[in-house]
Amino acid sequence: ASDAATPAAKPHQAAEPLAKRGAAVSLRGVSKSYGATPVLRGIHLDVAPGEVVTLIGPSGSGKSTLLRTINHLETVDAGSVTVGGEHLGYTRRGDKLVELPEREVLRRRTRVGLVFQHFNLFPHLTALQNITMAPTALGLLSKDQAATRATALLERVGLAEHTHHFPRQLSGGQQQRVAIARALALEPEVLLFDEPTSALDPELVGEVLDVIRQVANLGTTLIIVTHEIGFAREVSDRIIFLDQGHVVETGTPDQLLNHPEHERTRDFISRVL
Ligand code: ADP
Ligand code: MG
Repeated sequence: ASDAATPAAKPHQAAEPLAKRGAAVSLRGVSKSYGATPVLRGIHLDVAPGEVVTLIGPSGSGKSTLLRTINHLETVDAGSVTVGGEHLGYTRRGDKLVELPEREVLRRRTRVGLVFQHFNLFPHLTALQNITMAPTALGLLSKDQAATRATALLERVGLAEHTHHFPRQLSGGQQQRVAIARALALEPEVLLFDEPTSALDPELVGEVLDVIRQVANLGTTLIIVTHEIGFAREVSDRIIFLDQGHVVETGTPDQLLNHPEHERTRDFISRVL
C-alpha cells in the first residue's frame, strides 16, 4: 500500500479521485530534526477531505511532531505542509516562500484544530468561556454569537449542565469533551487529536471516544494519534504506522492490523493488541 493511494470514498464524500478534489492535508518530503536528532524523515502524506486517518507507532516515533507541523506549531527543515492547498505560515511570491505575519498565521491556524492529551483548558475560565475565548479574541464572532455556538457545542458533547463549571470541577473525560467543543468552535477543516484518551482513567475513555466518533460522522477531516487500536479499527479509513520518523506502512484497518506487510508493523501490532 502506498501512502499516496486514494482512500475509499465514504458515503458523505464525493466519489472523485483525491487529486481532483484536492487534499485537506498534504505533506511532501517533510523532514525535521531537533538539534542533531532527526525526528521526521521525508514524510509524504495526503489526507482527503472527510477522511479519518489514525497514526500509530512507538513512543518517540514522531507522531506528535508530525501533528504539530500540520498546524504550524512546528516549522519543518525540508519539504512542505499544506492545508487545503495553502501553507499556514508562508505565502508564495514568485518561486519563493515568504513568511506570513504572526496575525495571519494565527488566522490560518484556526483551520486546523488540535486536541491534546492533557486537555490544556484555561483553569481560570468556565467551560463556556474556554470555548468562546478564541473565536472572540480572534474577532471571528461577537460575544453573543460565540456564547450561542458554545452552548450548542456543550449540548452536543453532553455537557449542557456544566456550562458554568471550571475545569477543576469536571472529570478528565468531561474536560476533554470541553476541549473538543473548544476546537470545534472554530469550525476547523481538519481536527487533530494527540492521544486524546491517554491521560484518562479507563472508565472515562468511552465517553470521549463517543464524541470523537460523532465528530467523525459529521465529515470533518480527522487525524488521530491513539493507542486505542480497537477504536482505530472502527473509525479509520486508513491507519498509518510511523516508526523512527518514517511512514513504514499505510492501509485500511484490515490491511494494516490483520495483514501487515512489514516486520516492524507486525512487531508493534503484536505488542499493542
Ligand atoms: P511521539 O509523539 O511519537 O512519542 P514525538 O514527536 O513527541 O514522538 O517525539 C519524537 C522525538 O523527538 C523524541 O525523541 C523526542 O524526544 C524528540 N522531541 C520532541 N519534541 C522535542 C523538542 N521540542 N525538543 C527536542 N526534542 C524533541
Ligand atoms: Mg506524542
